[in-house]
Amino acid sequence: MALSLEQLREELQYHKTNNCVQCGYCLPVCPTYLTFRNETHSPRGRINLVKMVGEGNITDLSVLEEPFNLCLGCRACETACPTGVEYGSILDAARAAILKRKTLSVSKQLLRRILLKKMIPSKRMMNVAGHSIWFYKRSGLQKVLRISGVMNKIPYNLGTFESIMPEGTSPIERYHAKKEIKAQKEVKYTIAFFTGCIMDAMFHHINQLTIRLLSAAGCDVIVIPNQTCCGALHAHAGDRDEAIRLAKRNIAAFEEVNADFIVNNAGGCGAMLYEYKHLLANDKEWAERALAFSNKSKDISEILLENGGVLGMAPRNGERVTYQHSCHMTNVQKVKQEPLELLLSVPGINYIEMDQAEMCCGSAGIYNIVNYDASMHILDEKMKLVKTTEARIIITTNPGCLLQMKLGIEREGLSNSLRALHLVEYLAEAAGISVYKNK
Ligand code: SF4
Ligand code: SF4
Repeated sequence: MALSLEQLREELQYHKTNNCVQCGYCLPVCPTYLTFRNETHSPRGRINLVKMVGEGNITDLSVLEEPFNLCLGCRACETACPTGVEYGSILDAARAAILKRKTLSVSKQLLRRILLKKMIPSKRMMNVAGHSIWFYKRSGLQKVLRISGVMNKIPYNLGTFESIMPEGTSPIERYHAKKEIKAQKEVKYTIAFFTGCIMDAMFHHINQLTIRLLSAAGCDVIVIPNQTCCGALHAHAGDRDEAIRLAKRNIAAFEEVNADFIVNNAGGCGAMLYEYKHLLANDKEWAERALAFSNKSKDISEILLENGGVLGMAPRNGERVTYQHSCHMTNVQKVKQEPLELLLSVPGINYIEMDQAEMCCGSAGIYNIVNYDASMHILDEKMKLVKTTEARIIITTNPGCLLQMKLGIEREGLSNSLRALHLVEYLAEAAGISVYKNK
């Protein structure tokens, strides 16, 4: 049944486009506008397209498809906007509306069902994925497949990402990983740690370092077993219902422990946890619970800084370090200074600020897979800026950015002179904290 214009406006959050005064202040911060130089690939252009649909001037919603699919969702436009346009809500609503009217090919439907609905929300399946990475790297399979040339034939350029796969964690290490850890000094907070799905599968060691840093800073830390994916990938892919389902699962799971804070170490996940309060704002049963959850959600940098930073770090002898911001941490959580302050607290580093350090690196969830060419263009531009810093280390605060920076290093042939690290890895390295032993 065709929707009335009023219903279509509601579906597309049309009323939120009215705050846009067309000033264009958001254009210079939009990576896709700078890449494509088309109005339709700018925030203002995308907002105008929704406006035109809401006013009945465009009736075929497929016109929205390419502009909104190519949006990174980095939300830099929101930070730049002087009138407070809620671009994130407009984006999510447009993507959901497009998805609803589109008949996906059988292979895409299958991919979405397996990856987004079955695999990512399942702790067990993500653990298997993490073990598979470890096995692939350690068993010799990697060498065999590289020599065979199979990697070049995998769809969606996934073979390219093989080169930046982390080492992974063995099943035994994962089995013995800390689920609870006591504060190493007077207890200041009880923390429930949010592990994330990709983060825990691919960078399990960073999660383990995170809880050790929190413990050293005076926190009792608990890792709740029945938590799940934050739902960010689902929300950004237009599957709002699944994002809501996952949000409710997490809220209920974390309510079981009375923690002072729910701490994460992944900018993208942290932003989604922060947004649960908006996602469930109109749900009578869940609105208050979601608000309480979001208010307790913090990035690790906020907690470490509040507890006096990381103690006992060894000097770094003038090591040249630069920092790539996580867009979601900056533009959604509005956590910007804390990671930088922590980084600057490492003694003896030579911090070089990168030009446009807040501009998205092109990772953006699965953007670098589904929009590979655009993502690589954005990454190559980012790497030009990285190179001008002559840094030896790029620090990031999100698993997607970390992988993308590693890919940029590979593409530039710089793997012998440049490393990409999560801030947690760098702080732990400086403080002599490892997954296997504390200092
Ligand atoms: S979210 Fe990022 S890519 Fe999308 S319109 Fe805003 S600035 Fe541009
Ligand atoms: S900065 Fe805000 S008001 Fe100005 S064009 Fe962009 S979205 Fe519209």
